Amino acid sequence: MVDRIGDIWGTRTAFARGERWPVREDLKLADGVAEADVDRWVTSACVLCSNGCGLEIAVKDGEMVGVRGRAGDVVNHGRLGPKGLFASWQGVRNGDRLTRPLIRVGGELVPTDWDTAMDVIVERSKQLLAEKGPLSHGFYTSGQLFLEEYYAQAIVGKAGIGTPHMDGNTRLCTATAATAMKESFGSDGQPGSYSDIDECDAMFLYGHNMAETQTVLWMRVLDRLAGPNPPRLVCVDPRETEVARHAEVHLAIRPGTNLALMHGLVREVIAQGWIDEDYIAEHTIGFTELGDAVRPWTPERVAETCGVDAEDVRRAARIFGTSDRVLSTVLQGFYQSSQATASSCQVNNLHLLRGKIGTPGNGILQMNGQPTAQNNREAGADGDLSGFRNWENPAHVQQLADLWGVHADKIPHWAPPTHAMQIFRYCEQGSIEFLWVIATNPAVSMPQVPRIRRILEQESLFLVVEDLYLTETARYADVVLPAAAWGEKQGTFTNVNRTVHLSDKAVEPPGEARSDLAIFLDYSRRMDFRRDDGRPLLDWTCPEDAFRAWQECTRGRLVDYTGLSYEKLRGGTGIPWPCNEEHPDGTDRLYGDGIFPTEFDRAESFGHDLLTGATVGPLKFRALQANGRAILKTAAYSPTTEGPDDEYPFLYSTGRTVYHFHTRTKTARSRQLHKAAPGAWVELSVPDAERLGIEEGDLVRVASRRGEIVVPARVGDVREGTVFAPFHYGYWDQGRSGPGDRPTAANELTETEWDPVSKQPILKVAAVRIEKVADAVGPAPAPTTTASRPADPAGVPATVGGPEAEVEERPRVTEPPRAPGEGALT
Ligand code: SF4
Repeated sequence: MVDRIGDIWGTRTAFARGERWPVREDLKLADGVAEADVDRWVTSACVLCSNGCGLEIAVKDGEMVGVRGRAGDVVNHGRLGPKGLFASWQGVRNGDRLTRPLIRVGGELVPTDWDTAMDVIVERSKQLLAEKGPLSHGFYTSGQLFLEEYYAQAIVGKAGIGTPHMDGNTRLCTATAATAMKESFGSDGQPGSYSDIDECDAMFLYGHNMAETQTVLWMRVLDRLAGPNPPRLVCVDPRETEVARHAEVHLAIRPGTNLALMHGLVREVIAQGWIDEDYIAEHTIGFTELGDAVRPWTPERVAETCGVDAEDVRRAARIFGTSDRVLSTVLQGFYQSSQATASSCQVNNLHLLRGKIGTPGNGILQMNGQPTAQNNREAGADGDLSGFRNWENPAHVQQLADLWGVHADKIPHWAPPTHAMQIFRYCEQGSIEFLWVIATNPAVSMPQVPRIRRILEQESLFLVVEDLYLTETARYADVVLPAAAWGEKQGTFTNVNRTVHLSDKAVEPPGEARSDLAIFLDYSRRMDFRRDDGRPLLDWTCPEDAFRAWQECTRGRLVDYTGLSYEKLRGGTGIPWPCNEEHPDGTDRLYGDGIFPTEFDRAESFGHDLLTGATVGPLKFRALQANGRAILKTAAYSPTTEGPDDEYPFLYSTGRTVYHFHTRTKTARSRQLHKAAPGAWVELSVPDAERLGIEEGDLVRVASRRGEIVVPARVGDVREGTVFAPFHYGYWDQGRSGPGDRPTAANELTETEWDPVSKQPILKVAAVRIEKVADAVGPAPAPTTTASRPADPAGVPATVGGPEAEVEERPRVTEPPRAPGEGALT
């Protein structure tokens, strides 16, 4: 048994390049329950990060009592991380669950029945549609629903109501991943595979603290590092994360300077001749312009701008330029920073310059944050057109109109879909009067939450919130709908590397809670949304009906699901799309043939100017004649809008801890996870702490131009001049929607500012000041196991979980699962 709070990644199972990652089956059951006591095991996968680990849910007496990793799953080979082990099942079966709808009466939320709650919603919806039209409606959804639910929501929004105002909190976590792939390759769709970790000679992690955000993927890396011929690691991160500690080169750059660093790496790779000229000529356009843009960015200039050593820039570029097989992963350090899309496109450019894409060990993983963010993007609940279709291409709009049985003009396509930041602006201005928030908590997770709270409480806004718990956001609602959780409903979802899993229903939802799919179908029926031939717009009766309809939507597209079925997905492993007649077992990697979906008729986007965000448009895109070639593009570096000054001398960055997910609504309801990271804190460096007279655990006030937090200080390993705060800690567990006299939500301080292309908010760069408020009463409530560990561990008790955090790990001698197209073990 292993304490998997203290030992996050568990026991090593080393392997060498070209071998398959060994199996290790992780098992966690409730206290007093043995494996033999379990009534049945139900097929599923974890929905607590984007890794998508295959698992089975243990059910006893109608309750979820634990989980077991699926040894045959290509994603995790049986392993699970702390969130999957402790929160997936405990986090949703809590006594706090909403069990009845609530409506606001006399300023209070009071329980009611479904008919009453839905009647209130439908009455308001119909009234606004009649009086003000579809632009009065907005939807803000999640990265945690199932594919079938997103698709239903997309159809209701686009073909039922006809509003472009739809987005998800995916805008905060994964919008840049999608946009960077559209800009470079013509379409969303992950080129790489997790199996590239098994094959690569070098790995670059750009703003990706994989050790904490995708723990099982990091186990795979650790196992490669523990075996013969390990990959060389390069880490770009202002904090000394676990990734940085294992890296050969750690580029701890100044927050907000990602693009300057990337220009330097691209310049060095070109200048040293580490490029594949034949590949560039045959499979890309834009090389001359790219070379011109990066030419001034010598390692010395990068060093000055980014605050790193010029020699380290050269070393990193050499590793990239001379490794046979190289894998890059990118996450929030790039996506939630300034010039997010341009920086992430430079990662794509590096691979294209060397032709290192789509072959074993040569991959790009533009990561996602949330578990089902990928499906939101695919289905179009984020505003994109379903099935990776292009809103600027009338033929694509017509395809959806034909599928949904409505006139093409019903489907909004006169302008880009409205992104989340703009949706909230329209609510603020009053043009959106009906906002439906589903499975997310903007009162804590959006930037500048004092402003978001003011918007949510506006009298003029009719707010519907659909969730498991009474979150901070739900407390502002006019109607609260109790939703069924993972394990209580059926559906599919897709992880970062396109692997689709089925999650079967294990237990009944509590009380009157209903699946999100059932709620959307009910709303559509009550609104009497119909196709032009008079039939109901949505006549599905179960998730599998929705899945079959989705398959038709994907037929012939890159995101092709037509070869999948619920039955096939119960076969022991998830399956990566495209899965169709040509690829019946799915597809491990994209673009190995050097052909990209940039033909005019295939492209999901015609692209943008990466500096301004202006659309390229169909005429200019056609003139580019990319025609199946990837597009090398970039933008000039520009400094952040808000930098440190005399009044606010520190750079402020927000992020995650390994023990929590999002706003803790599930993870804080797991005893093991809550105890490991029970309260908010802020991290600062030793020199800064000494200068300010701050010691470990002292209460400090961190203030920006927008707000403040008052939390204990962790004196740790963050870059000097930078302050880091985890974003998970709102106020629901204190029974409040806002801070009262003790603000802890990291987004009290962040800016309403976004990347011009992906529209992803900049949550990792703001200017703050910091001052001591009171002496410590003990160490900060931060873990000691991760990037948050104290600089001086003396006097700070180590984070361990004790007996209740013990997990059974079972290394298996069985042959590990095989990715599609992978040969037999050698
Ligand atoms: S790595 Fe992610 S998907 Fe896997 S068990 Fe952990 S939280 Fe769940």
